[in-house]
Amino acid sequence: MLGADDAVTAALVTRGWPSRPLVDQPLGIDLLNTRWVAGGVAYDLLDHDDLTEAWLADRELESARPVPRQQLREARDAVAAVIADPADCAAVNALLGHGRVRLTVDERGRVEHDDVADPRWRAAWACLHDYVRLRAATPDRLRKCANPDCVLHFQDTSRTGRRLWCSMTGCGNRFKARRHHSRSRANS
Ligand SMILES: [Zn+2]
Repeated sequence: MLGADDAVTAALVTRGWPSRPLVDQPLGIDLLNTRWVAGGVAYDLLDHDDLTEAWLADRELESARPVPRQQLREARDAVAAVIADPADCAAVNALLGHGRVRLTVDERGRVEHDDVADPRWRAAWACLHDYVRLRAATPDRLRKCANPDCVLHFQDTSRTGRRLWCSMTGCGNRFKARRHHSRSRANS
């Protein structure tokens, strides 16, 4: 579920951190973007309880005690691995074992409920579930930014499906500036 990044933004200001880029991604990808690089410095929301709880609140996910940073980090690593290599499913599949989907129907059709016994795994599992949904819907459009120094990921919703960069104004421009004949077309 897309949501405003309000709580995270407030928490980042409190800490004096720069704002988080690329906050328009679906949950399964947004988990990956809880870390980013700005001005050569790596930032990671999951390093801190307050920032992690702010992110969970913005995403309308359940927190737990202790704050489930470790579970979210494991899920993040697993999804990043399977995006880097779609055949590398072992880690995601192992973590999916923490829960299951329970189905019901209502007047409009099918309803899926996450069924995760361990509260520490509920948020991470919701992210994994969303990643599975995205992978089923658009398997070729879940990507890491083509800048090797950038750690952001995105779902390519462009018409051509050839988006390379987290942002054209950031990584895209920097890359193009390094190349003289920039006939390389990328959509953002
Ligand atoms: Zn980038």
